[in-house]
Amino acid sequence: MKRILVTGGAGFIGSHLCERLLSRGNEVLCVDNFFTSRRQNIAHLLPNPSFELMRHDVTWPLYVEVDEIYNLACPASPVHYQFDPVQTTKTSVHGAINMLGLAKRVKAKILQASTSEVYGDPAQHPQVESYWGNVNPIGPRACYDEGKRCAETLFFDYYRQHDLRIRVVRIFNTYGPRMHPNDGRVVSNFVVAALKGEPIALYGSGEQTRSFCYVDDLVTGMVAMMEQDAIVGPVNLGNPGEFTIRELAEMVIELTGSKSGIVFKPLPQDDPVRRRPDITLAKEKLGWDPAIAIREGLARTIDYFRGQIG
Ligand code: NAD
Ligand code: UDP
Repeated sequence: MKRILVTGGAGFIGSHLCERLLSRGNEVLCVDNFFTSRRQNIAHLLPNPSFELMRHDVTWPLYVEVDEIYNLACPASPVHYQFDPVQTTKTSVHGAINMLGLAKRVKAKILQASTSEVYGDPAQHPQVESYWGNVNPIGPRACYDEGKRCAETLFFDYYRQHDLRIRVVRIFNTYGPRMHPNDGRVVSNFVVAALKGEPIALYGSGEQTRSFCYVDDLVTGMVAMMEQDAIVGPVNLGNPGEFTIRELAEMVIELTGSKSGIVFKPLPQDDPVRRRPDITLAKEKLGWDPAIAIREGLARTIDYFRGQIG
């Protein structure tokens, strides 16, 4: 049995990861400051004697004894990470320094939840791990993009300088149950609007694209990455199916049977035009390939939000 720390463990992805790690017979220490999450995400895990919850902000040092660390603490929705951009950079950078320091002291293996945002508004399509990206360092998304890029830098410097056992995954848009209904990200926004019969807002023309990975697939990839010793990364994890945001809106309307109409709103600054992961590396090195198609994943997500908003 391993003792595993999950920072951001009460969040959308983190709560599914905690569940998976428990089901594999591990002890899980979930650390979260509840900035963007709700206790109800992990309430069902609290009675489990192998699960422990600690309210803590990763920008402060943490002294615990663990074998592995999954570092997910960071707001992920553009609305949330732009709410307090200085804190976002601190969470990514100071959080990485604190968790890497912890990993060094206790000799733990540590995985960083990095992001496709390190590629910025990509000039290469699809995005391969060797692409260095196209990020505006002073724009409204920079607190997140550059924060995550700096965290990757720190991970690789700890790897080279201190022989730390690191793993880095670059996560592409992931969706599923337990996204916060007011999270502001596209899937939750569209599903909630459709279920309430409110207009669905397309930012810009809606012709920009994203690739959407169902959360169970993503968690499988993260655990596979942590458990192998062939590569440290970075490795892209995402579903290569690419859709325009308009297509996503149409699918959500169809699957919910909603009467919602579509309205247009201004495109946020620096909103990436196209995004699709090249997952050759994950397929070859981790034997990982997402199994849940968008319609199936959306149907499960819609069921969840139906229960949430009644
Ligand atoms: P989320 O907002 O649901 O989860 C983030 C969690 O981190 C929340 O529980 C939040 O309260 C916690 N947190 C934030 N700041 C903290 C701090 N200073 N100290 C402790 N806890 C803190 O978002 P998510 O989608 O579950 O994202 C999890 C991780 O995956 C993030 O690091 C994010 O950057 C990364 N990621 C997610 C996606 C995606 O599409 N969901 C894509 C790329 C990367
Ligand atoms: N978007 C939209 N309507 C919404 C929310 C988002 O049209 O209600 C668009 C957004 O402009 C972006 C895409 O959907 O092009 C994905 O946005 P999200 O915030 O989910 O994540 P991003 O991939 O931009 O970080």
